[in-house]
Amino acid sequence: MTDRLYYEDAYLWTFEGKVIAEKEDRGTWVCLDRSAFYPTSGGQPFDTGRLEWTDAGGRACSAEVSDVEADREGQVWHRVDRAVPEGTVVRGTIDGPRRRDHMEQHGGEHMLAGAIWEKLGGTTIGLHLGKEDSSIDVSMPDGRTHLTAEEIEMLEETVNERIRMDAPIRCWFPTEEELRNLPLRKPPTVTGHIRIVTMGDFEMVACGGTHPSSTGRIGQIKVISAIPSKGKVRVTFVCGGRAEKLFRKYMVCANKAGNVLSAPLEKLAGSAGELKARLADAERRLNRFETERILVEIRGNEDQESLPGVTLSVTLTGETDAKPLAEAVSRYIAEDGRALLLCAGERLTFARSGDVDIDMNELIKRVGRGGGRPDLASGAGIPQCAEVAKKILTTEGKGKSWRISNRGIAQKAKRLNLYID
Ligand SMILES: [Zn+2]
Repeated sequence: MTDRLYYEDAYLWTFEGKVIAEKEDRGTWVCLDRSAFYPTSGGQPFDTGRLEWTDAGGRACSAEVSDVEADREGQVWHRVDRAVPEGTVVRGTIDGPRRRDHMEQHGGEHMLAGAIWEKLGGTTIGLHLGKEDSSIDVSMPDGRTHLTAEEIEMLEETVNERIRMDAPIRCWFPTEEELRNLPLRKPPTVTGHIRIVTMGDFEMVACGGTHPSSTGRIGQIKVISAIPSKGKVRVTFVCGGRAEKLFRKYMVCANKAGNVLSAPLEKLAGSAGELKARLADAERRLNRFETERILVEIRGNEDQESLPGVTLSVTLTGETDAKPLAEAVSRYIAEDGRALLLCAGERLTFARSGDVDIDMNELIKRVGRGGGRPDLASGAGIPQCAEVAKKILTTEGKGKSWRISNRGIAQKAKRLNLYID
C-alpha cells in the first residue's frame, strides 16, 4: 500500500519515493511506495506534476505526471509520459497552485454542506469539482428542489463568517471506539480505516481528501445557483481564488455594460429594461413602415393583362424581415382578384386572393423549394422562379378564367360545408 503523504501534510509539494511497480494501461503508469500526489476520489480531481531522477549513466531525467489513480489495494498509480525503471528513487513535485485550488473548493464544500445540514437540515449527496465551478446535490428534508434567495444569502454569510474565523482544520484516523462516539454530519460511506476531518466546531465528517490547514485558507465562498436536479437541489459555488476571479469577471462585465448604457451599476437593469422597451417600440414602427413600403412595391408591379380577370404582381425585392413581409402579403391578398409571385432575397412567397383559381402550393413546388396552402405558399428560390411561375400561368392557362365566379365560390363553399350569404 502506498504511504499517502498528503494525509499528514496537505501542503507537501515535493517528496521522495521509490518506483515499486510499473504497468501499461492507456499509457505508462508507475506505482510509488510513498507519494504526495492525490488520486482522483470523493469528487476531488487528481494532482499533476512531475517525477525527476538520475539514471544509471548519471543523466538527469524527468517525466510529467498527467493522471493519478488509486487501486483497490491502496496503491497510488501515476501516469507518466516516459517509463521509469522499477527501483528508481524519484523526486516528485506536484502542481501546487492546482492542488491549492482544489483544496479551496473542497474545503468550501465541507463548510457549505455543514451549514446546509445545520441551518436547513439538508443532506449533501456528492461533490463535483469542475474546471470552472463546483456543485453539490442536496436532499432537503421536505423534498423541495430549490432554495430561496434569502437562504442562499444566509448560507453564504454563515460560511464566509466561519472562513474569516480562521478555525483550525484537523484530519486524523480515530480508533473504532472513538469513531462510534463522534457526532459526524453523516455516516461514513466506506468501512475500515476511516479518516475524519473537523473544521472548527461546525463540521465533522469522514473524508480522505486534502484540506487547507485552517478555514481562513479557503478564502471565501460564492454560491452561483441553486436549481432543481433529479429531485434534489444542485448548489453550484466557487471558493478562494475562483471566487475572486469570478467577482473580477462580473465587475468587468458590469462596468462594460455600464459604459455602454451610461448608467451606474445599481441602475443597469432599469436602463437595460428601458432600452429594450424603446427598441421594441421602434421595431413596431419600423415594421409598419416596411409593410407599407413592400405594399407600394407590390402595387407598382401590378399587371392586369397577363391573367384575364386577375391583377398579377411579380415582385422581386431585396431581403427583408419576415414579419413585415408576411403582413404586406396578407393585406394584399385580402383584396379581391389578386395574385402575387414575390421573391424577397432568396425567399419565395406565392399568394392569391380567395376568389382566384390558382393553386399556389402546387405552383411553388414546380419552380422552387417549399409549399403551403393553395392560397399561400412559401419557400426558397431565386428571382427567376417567380418569372418562370408567371410563364407557366400565362402559357398553360391560355383562355382559362382565373377568377372564380360567385357561383363557383358558392359551389366550393358547399363542398367544404360552408354557408355564405
Ligand atoms: Zn474532505
